[in-house]
Amino acid sequence: MTAKRSKAVFPGSFDPITNGHLDIIDRALKVFEEVILAILVNPEKRPLFSVDERVRLCREACRGRRRVRVTTFSGLLVDYAESAGARVIVRGLRAISDFEYEFQMALMNRRLNSEIETVFMMPAESYSYLSSRMVKEVSALGGQVGRFVPAVVERRLRLRSRSNGRRARTAGRPRKTKK
Ligand code: ADP
Repeated sequence: MTAKRSKAVFPGSFDPITNGHLDIIDRALKVFEEVILAILVNPEKRPLFSVDERVRLCREACRGRRRVRVTTFSGLLVDYAESAGARVIVRGLRAISDFEYEFQMALMNRRLNSEIETVFMMPAESYSYLSSRMVKEVSALGGQVGRFVPAVVERRLRLRSRSNGRRARTAGRPRKTKK
């Protein structure tokens, strides 16, 4: 199969990477020789994790998957895909709610570059409700997210919510002054 020899770009915010993303990556690896996980650098979004942190977390999470490369991009996705030598964009489809946005984006990308195809993959049902946003919300409220994210992300989120908690507890306390 020729597709097996080709590259695919899997773009997204990955803020942070979850087991749902990894599920899609593993499915894409069955079809494509190389999967380029491309983190969008978008100055208009206010992510929880910096681009560098997201790159590090994605690399750690994908360690052992030798055919995955983690990079960043800005600007048009189709331009990035072309420059990376990829003819395919992979996106995950969780539910009908994803469909409309993804459909619009795929058609717009086709208008921008008709040489590049978008391929949708469905995750295991157990991940169909999972999103980076949910993970962040649950974690910020003190919930356990170990089942939803790679261990390295769970540790990072735990550290973050612990330091936020500490900050919240000390905020407003009178400063100790030396006598
Ligand atoms: P974006 O901001 O571009 O939506 P995300 O990091 O949220 O970036 O998602 C990147 C891609 O991964 C998207 O195609 C999204 O649909 C897919 N995705 C995210 N979470 C899941 C999941 N739980 N199962 C399957 N696909 C997912």
